Amino acid sequence: MQLEPRAGRVRLVGAGPGPADLLTVRALRAVEGAQALLYDALVAEEVVALAPRACLKIQTGKRAFEASMAQAAINRLMLRLARRGLDVVRLKGGDPSIFGRVGEEHEYLRSHGLEVEVVPGVTAACAAAAQFGFPLTHRGEARSLLILTATVANGAIPQGGWAGANDPEATLALYMGRDRAAAVADQLVRQGRSTSTPAIAVENAGHADARAIASTLGGLAAAMHAAQPTGPVVLLIGEVAARADVLFEGRSDGAGISRTARP
Ligand code: SAH
Repeated sequence: MQLEPRAGRVRLVGAGPGPADLLTVRALRAVEGAQALLYDALVAEEVVALAPRACLKIQTGKRAFEASMAQAAINRLMLRLARRGLDVVRLKGGDPSIFGRVGEEHEYLRSHGLEVEVVPGVTAACAAAAQFGFPLTHRGEARSLLILTATVANGAIPQGGWAGANDPEATLALYMGRDRAAAVADQLVRQGRSTSTPAIAVENAGHADARAIASTLGGLAAAMHAAQPTGPVVLLIGEVAARADVLFEGRSDGAGISRTARP
């Protein structure tokens, strides 16, 4: 009888927003058992450190605008490692199915005959809401949550904006919008969202040094300009943002208020 070579398997795992205790138990077990770990720039060091000492650890992505490994190269690398029989864990910040290219990787690996498993994770918007004490939906106030990318290729905001974003009862969670917050706010106002809509930008959600920049749609650009966040930022726009549990820190110029989490 001829034995088939063990193909290995790949798990596409959500690492959550940063702290190791926001991993799911399933994600933790996957990392602890990994023989090869490919991780994105947003994955915190403390999570990478949970992998066994002998595990091959490869960082595949840098922060925006720095060179990262091309998607095709990551795909080939995962395939090669899995075909060597290794237990491969592809670790992504937040949830892998939200702006995490999980679809492309899944399709590629499956088309090459590999066993693929996806492990969900806590996405940035959920981590931000939990940390600053506001809900993403709220009865009678926010009936839907739209998860949107603020920017598309080249950092441009999508032409025509975002369908449904003008609904006053929709909470908008905009990812990848830190450096285009002014353009995002302009577009939303053009689409009919009121300038008085509460808006909160959360930097480094889930981390101990997280910061909330609380404002309104009309004041968002000035608030972001005053706060100058450098970490990853998720923008949450909608009535629920007014429920955030934040401390007044100081008024930058009257247009925006910058606030931090309660200690
Ligand atoms: N899969 C990830 C999102 C990847 S896209 C998730 O589910 O969270 C990258 C964008 O996610 C960043 O530009 C930023 O908008 C957001 N993001 C990721 N981690 C974040 C964090 N800890 N705090 C705030 N925003 C974060």
